[in-house]
Formats: sequence, C-alpha cells, structure tokens
Amino acid sequence: MGINVKDYLKPHVSLSMNERLDLVRRRFTDESHIAVDQEAFRNDVDRAVLFICPAQVFKLNEDEDSCIVNFEDCLECGTCQVARRYTSWRNPKGGYGVTYRYG
Ligand code: SF4
Repeated sequence: MGINVKDYLKPHVSLSMNERLDLVRRRFTDESHIAVDQEAFRNDVDRAVLFICPAQVFKLNEDEDSCIVNFEDCLECGTCQVARRYTSWRNPKGGYGVTYRYG
C-alpha cells in the first residue's frame, strides 16, 4: 500500500483508516496491552468504547456480543483511559509500541 507523507499533508487528500495507520510505525508483541471487561461491555447501554478510539481498536463481535480488541492498531493516545470505561490499558513492553515520525 504505502502512502507518501507529503500527500497526507495536502488538505484535499482523503485517506482510509488503514492508510492513516500506515503512517505510524508500530511494533507489537503477541501480548495485548489492552484488556476489556467483557461483562461490563455487554451491560453498557451505549457501548461508547466502539466509537471513541481514533484507531478503531475496539470492534463489536456480533456473534458473541463481545468486544474485539485489535491492540496492534493502538496509537497510544490515551482516549480510552480518559473515558474510564471498562478498558484497562498499560504501556506496551519496552521497545514496543508506536513511533511517530511526523508530529
Ligand atoms: S490508547 Fe487510543 S488508540 Fe489506543 S486503544 Fe485507547 S483510544 Fe484507541
């Protein structure tokens, strides 16, 4: 795929979420640094966690009525922790996580 960062900076260019995520270097292990209390998720009326994450890490598994956590896409922005909803987040292991190259 690959997107040129100069193209990204042009205001008229619209990028998909995957193209935006490709602009951030991410290095993750198999071990998730994010956990969701699934019972609390099921009991949540608005399920805001599905909408607050800019990287769309949290997805609904409709078959199991559970929350899928695609932790590899996490941008470490902290929004899910500010929201303080049934997610627990910790820093990825040393040497892992995201590296921002352009701001
Ligand atoms: S820290 Fe930010 S990017 Fe990562 S899961 Fe939470 S809201 Fe999403």
